[in-house]
Amino acid sequence: MKTPYELFADEGILKSGWASFVQPLVDECKEKGYQITQIKEKFGTLRFYGAFPDEFYEKIEEAGKKSANTCYKCGKPGKTYFIHWFLTLCPEHAEKQYGAERIADYEIDKNEVDL
Ligand SMILES: [Zn+2]
Repeated sequence: MKTPYELFADEGILKSGWASFVQPLVDECKEKGYQITQIKEKFGTLRFYGAFPDEFYEKIEEAGKKSANTCYKCGKPGKTYFIHWFLTLCPEHAEKQYGAERIADYEIDKNEVDL
């Protein structure tokens, strides 16, 4: 049976553009024995669930803010787009995903959407 850590790796988030700030959280959980229940991308941002002490939630929140501005595919600065589902992507990957002329239509104004 796979450990939760291996399952998360299968989901790809630890190989994604977000790995640089998700991996340290996972490492800290392993080190301190915190129980992670789920790590995923939702509405274009990071979700990191489990039983953690208060100070760790601050780190999760910080990582969540980074995820909202970091390309899920490559880790470059990005924005959140919506077409069928939310994705946070850099201009390059957004263009590949949606086509250059349509990017602006799919960009989400985070001030207007309660994520
Ligand atoms: Zn990218």
